[in-house]
Amino acid sequence: MATAHAEMRAIDRACKKEHSWRLPEAELYVTLEPCPMCMGAILNARIKRVYFGAYEQKGRSLTEELANANLLNHKVEVIGGVLEEECSRVLSSFFMEMRAREKAEKEKKKAKAAAKAARSDAGGGKK
Ligand SMILES: [Zn+2]
Repeated sequence: MATAHAEMRAIDRACKKEHSWRLPEAELYVTLEPCPMCMGAILNARIKRVYFGAYEQKGRSLTEELANANLLNHKVEVIGGVLEEECSRVLSSFFMEMRAREKAEKEKKKAKAAAKAARSDAGGGKK
């Protein structure tokens, strides 16, 4: 899911809990620097402050630009690099495990397809 980011889910839950779309007293803690979509939601929800650990390395974030753009008459304070090394390690191992899981899943599907093909080859002679 392209929109299933932790920040979005946390904001949704907090809004439901507070029965409000505004969270002016909220502080958000995330492992990785928020993407532009999440920064938009953070601004929309009028979140007060965001703490994040690891910086987005591929230049896909516009965190500072969006935090200070004052597009909605709201600025969010952003504090980055909190426990940066620990957060980077957590993210690295998460993505390594995810890739390993995806690879195992692919190989399982491949083996299943090969077994199915072998069965249909064996059964094909009976027709
Ligand atoms: Zn995001």
